[in-house]
Amino acid sequence: MKLYDVTLTMKPGMPVWPGDIPVELERMSKIEEGANSNVSRLQISVHTGTHVDAPRHFLPEGKTIETLDLDALVGPALVFEIPEDQDLITADLLISLKYPEKVTRVLFKTKNSKIWALGTQDFEPRYTSISTDGAELLVKRGAKLVGIDYLSVAPYKRTRPTHEILLKASVVALEGLDLTEVNPGIYQVYCLPLKLYQCDGAPARVILVEQ
Ligand SMILES: [Zn+2]
Repeated sequence: MKLYDVTLTMKPGMPVWPGDIPVELERMSKIEEGANSNVSRLQISVHTGTHVDAPRHFLPEGKTIETLDLDALVGPALVFEIPEDQDLITADLLISLKYPEKVTRVLFKTKNSKIWALGTQDFEPRYTSISTDGAELLVKRGAKLVGIDYLSVAPYKRTRPTHEILLKASVVALEGLDLTEVNPGIYQVYCLPLKLYQCDGAPARVILVEQ
């Protein structure tokens, strides 16, 4: 059994969405300073690193993260590769790439994964994302989980429409994956967001298991 950890390591200095607070992770008590144990504190936006969007992120009455159906988050998933010269995942592109007729869980591997490999601290606004008609096609073909390898499923400066289409259709958006090590194909995905009370999103540990 081969296991892939497709989660970003959460650390100070990692790129975050413009306007979000930077990651603060620091030890509050230190054994070397005489404390009984090491204890750290973490301050983040819940949309930091590898994370799940709950419908509440864009829909005022939408479900919150702790109420999401885990069925969508665990099960067979297709890692689908988008050629590196493509910036927008449109319906036409998906059709031309022979996106299957029925896919419950899809994770898009795009040129974005290379951004993580660079280790840059700056936000990259020219990431590959999903258009509105692309999102509609994914919903039509049965998506319950849609993942992507940068910080938003939607284009920068136009985040609402793509999110709304997915979240209104009860599709879970999984953002900030690192798929550098993963080849296209079918895996078993385990995506487990923190169970945060009435929250619009949560960081998640995500692993893929080769079938
Ligand atoms: Zn998010």
